[in-house]
Amino acid sequence: MTMILDVQQLYVHFPVSSTVIRAVDGVDINIEQSETLAVIGESGSGKSVLGLALLGLLPANCTVNGVIRYHGEDLLTLSETELEMIRGRKIAWVPQNPAGAMNPSMTVGNQIGEPISLHIEKDKNKIRKKVLELLKFIRITPPEERIDSYPYSFSGGMLQRSLVAMGISGHPEVLIADEPTKGIDIMNKQAITYLLRVLREEGITLIIITHDLPFAKNLADRIAVMYSGRIVEIRGRQEFFDGPLHPYSRGLLRSLPENGLHPIPSGTGDSEENDGGCKFRFRCTSAIEKCRVEPPLIHLLEGSAVRCWLYD
Ligand code: ATP
Ligand code: MG
Repeated sequence: MTMILDVQQLYVHFPVSSTVIRAVDGVDINIEQSETLAVIGESGSGKSVLGLALLGLLPANCTVNGVIRYHGEDLLTLSETELEMIRGRKIAWVPQNPAGAMNPSMTVGNQIGEPISLHIEKDKNKIRKKVLELLKFIRITPPEERIDSYPYSFSGGMLQRSLVAMGISGHPEVLIADEPTKGIDIMNKQAITYLLRVLREEGITLIIITHDLPFAKNLADRIAVMYSGRIVEIRGRQEFFDGPLHPYSRGLLRSLPENGLHPIPSGTGDSEENDGGCKFRFRCTSAIEKCRVEPPLIHLLEGSAVRCWLYD
């Protein structure tokens, strides 16, 4: 297996007024070529910020430290012009919130075609032909009638599928999709799952950020669980769902409807969570004295790791 992305000790901090939001707080992760990785975790755990960091799309008001190697080259050392050669062409992004992500004054066809015209093909007729193929692939029919439509005339599910088409039109090696099933109905969710499956079979490397555990279970090879800016567990899909290790992961699975909707206890506040110990320990029913010290990521079998003293 070839390693395509190698993230080491990544920190993305946002200084806000008198405090610092540690959105990503020491992430180490390797992503293999052609694997599908699902990144799960509660709201605010840093999933989107991690995804944006992989694309070099972080906002200006943050500080970034660490290494993000893409085929061995550290993306954090590249200039904006160098990043533009990678973004959309090599690593592409399907953003969260389809309604806000599309340009309302540009046709859907032109938006899907933009990465093609930027990176692959200048001939307008050839671009149009490719966009028609993509519309057919995402099952927006009849493509000839839809290609010149504006986003307002599309449903949420159609917009979400169009964003996937925009993401893949530049033939990227890596596609990062941020909550691709959020706010869409079951039919559209099935359509998105199908599209991503096809892409996966074609060998694209997929990073799927999601709250939707059944969706992750359906699609991913590995699951990475984020908690408060850190990856607390990364495991093969089957072993994760059969036996999650980290107490937070166990809580996530127990909170699913089929497991009785048991809520994870709430925390006690940020000040304590940044005291250097395990950030989950205030909510953890298995916490021990040792958890006052941050556990390292403990590596298990190949590709698996857990950040918890229980497995030391
Ligand atoms: P969700 O599941 O709700 O999308 P998430 O896991 O994607 O959540 P992020 O959007 O990555 O969470 O945010 C992680 C943390 O970083 C949050 O506390 C968020 O408020 C903060 N954050 C994100 N972007 C900014 C920004 N531009 N300025 C300041 N803080 C930010
Ligand atoms: Mg997010």
